[in-house]
Amino acid sequence: MSAKKLIAGNWKMNGSLAANQTLVQALLAGIGQPTCDVALCAPFVYLPQLQALLADTSTVELGAQDLSQHDSGAYTGDVSGAMLRDFGVRYAIVGHSERRQYQGETDVQVAIKAKRALAAGLTPIVCVGETLREREEGMTEFIVKRQLSAVIHLNGHCISEIVVAYEPVWAIGTGKTATPDEAQAVHAVLRAQLKAATEHADRVRILYGGSMNAANAAELLAQPDIDGGLIGGASLKAPDFLKIIAAAR
Ligand code: PGA
Repeated sequence: MSAKKLIAGNWKMNGSLAANQTLVQALLAGIGQPTCDVALCAPFVYLPQLQALLADTSTVELGAQDLSQHDSGAYTGDVSGAMLRDFGVRYAIVGHSERRQYQGETDVQVAIKAKRALAAGLTPIVCVGETLREREEGMTEFIVKRQLSAVIHLNGHCISEIVVAYEPVWAIGTGKTATPDEAQAVHAVLRAQLKAATEHADRVRILYGGSMNAANAAELLAQPDIDGGLIGGASLKAPDFLKIIAAAR
């Protein structure tokens, strides 16, 4: 629904100096003039490397996979939004299910992180999604609405500045993709929730994530409320990621 789709790669804890260079060079060689926005969300330590590799282009923007819920101070190991801005970072994923699961991040922490990101001039990519058990129990709508509602509550009218990513947990890294209809149904729920919070809800890009790949991207991205993708595994292979970018018109 929004003007330009966004295709964001989520490298997770993958990469090396050598592998990143090869991957980014292959992407830049094949990307041409994409009709969508493109971002790479890399591990913190590689952001300076990517900033240098992408210095001559505006077609690919930089993203982080997390940020601190604090501004500065005694938070060993944390990285603030302002620090990310120092390295030209434009997006920050918040509330990825792997962080909710392994780091115990709560809805409220995720909402605070989204707020910190916005305050630092970053666009948060707020992830929501249900587990397999929650889906089987018919809880999908309840879960994603609860997760998004915390972010809406804390961010007020700024909510139109975020990106949302619907990532069913059972589809992440499993090769099991939500069908275009299943994904669209949840995206429509999220859109309606955003509409109730802001008159600019159509501007908010709602990405789908979870085993999106070169073969299924076009059909997913053709859904009216799917405004892009958050791509894990397939973003680590240049030919696959380029096909997904080409499918995002
Ligand atoms: P996947 O990961 O594409 O490998 O399923 C998506 C994500 O976790 O963002």
